[in-house]
Amino acid sequence: MQQLFQNAQIAQPDGTLLAVDILVTDGIIEKFSPARGEPAPAGVVATDLHGLFVMPGGVDGHVHFDDPGFTEREDFGTGTMGAAAGGVTTIVDMPCTSLPPVTTPDNFKTKMKAVESKAYVDYAFWGGTTPTFIDSGAFRRLLPELKELGVVGIKAYTISGMQTYPRLDTRQMVMLFEAARDFNMLVAVHAEDYFLATYYTDKIIREGRSDPLAYKDGRTYDAEPLAVSTVLALARREHTRVHIVHMSTSAGVDLVRQAKGQGIDATAETCPHYLLLNREDFVRLGSLAKCTPPLRDRYDNEVLWAGLLDGTIDYVATDHAAGIYPREKVTDNIWNAYAGMPGVQLRVSLMLHEACTVRGMNLYRFGEIMSTNPAKRLGLFPRKGMLAVGSDADFACIDPKAPMTVHAEDLYAKNKYTPFEGRELRGAVRQTYVRGNQVYDSSGKFPAGAGYGKFIKAV
Ligand SMILES: [Zn+2]
Repeated sequence: MQQLFQNAQIAQPDGTLLAVDILVTDGIIEKFSPARGEPAPAGVVATDLHGLFVMPGGVDGHVHFDDPGFTEREDFGTGTMGAAAGGVTTIVDMPCTSLPPVTTPDNFKTKMKAVESKAYVDYAFWGGTTPTFIDSGAFRRLLPELKELGVVGIKAYTISGMQTYPRLDTRQMVMLFEAARDFNMLVAVHAEDYFLATYYTDKIIREGRSDPLAYKDGRTYDAEPLAVSTVLALARREHTRVHIVHMSTSAGVDLVRQAKGQGIDATAETCPHYLLLNREDFVRLGSLAKCTPPLRDRYDNEVLWAGLLDGTIDYVATDHAAGIYPREKVTDNIWNAYAGMPGVQLRVSLMLHEACTVRGMNLYRFGEIMSTNPAKRLGLFPRKGMLAVGSDADFACIDPKAPMTVHAEDLYAKNKYTPFEGRELRGAVRQTYVRGNQVYDSSGKFPAGAGYGKFIKAV
């Protein structure tokens, strides 16, 4: 089937917009031509995009959709509906928050079976491993098998709150890095030092504190740079490709900048909440805004922004991780609250407003931090992540001037809460297309429906 998407405003590398018609054949972009306002040739299905800003479909490289296993928090249906409504056309789900975790080919297949009829947008998987598999040596067999199945890489934790997915100690981390290098796999690390965070957390609990800042102080700032520095040192020594997830501290940014300068193959992501929220928001919102790592300080917001603008931070992901609301999220005792929040639906609008409208980021660069860079790092490029001939026709159509107020009740997430409640933005997603088919329309329709989304194998 041939389709012509007419009158799309797409960003050029210099940030200016160009009005084009996009010819799509069987879901793949075939040609761009200057928008002429002429009718489509016979046999070609025309869609007028009315001059909306058309960006490459968002790629959220870090979500927890909890399916199967923790589907009271989120499932693949509600999670990917939120993605579609937020202009995200590919999500990459973490291996650790579904049961069983994606650590073996059988577990991978179990997850695939559970989610494949539910997805509204395309999806990829992170793989994982466990301390037990490392100590037994089984990981050296399992990693290449997972790679063959198409995982984007292996996720590891230096500290973990999940009994079903424990942390690796430094010795196990080295062994994982050696294997990942041998099999040419990317390793993503949740980097907060276990001993430091645990020591201060226990101490503060003993002192009887249970306010939001007790959690922030316990999960101490220095735990992140300490772990980031270990990860980067191991990457340097073992020549492993590493990715630091949800970086939250200014010191973390400095370390990654330095490592990149030394030629270490390291990348980093941060999340909208680490860029836009801090201590004051945590005090104001309490347990609702509890996340891991915790929200930091205004200074960290600014250094993270600088890192994002200068390329030290490669992309923005959400770490979408919803707790059961209100049961797991509303409490006066910060230690009892679930750490995490839904985010996939708001990422594009929040960042378009804050990065481009407020901070002047060029719209092409915006496409890079939201789509191209994660697709490249995670082996999904050039099929995903870019408006280019030969790529999948995945795009979000946005009215950049349309005012939008964030309301939790508008989220498609199973648990509807957000620390951004009431925030006023400009930049509403009007339509989202995956492989040429409309998956979302802002009147609240999901035309392609559940099960349209396909698994995308990383290469
Ligand atoms: Zn996460």
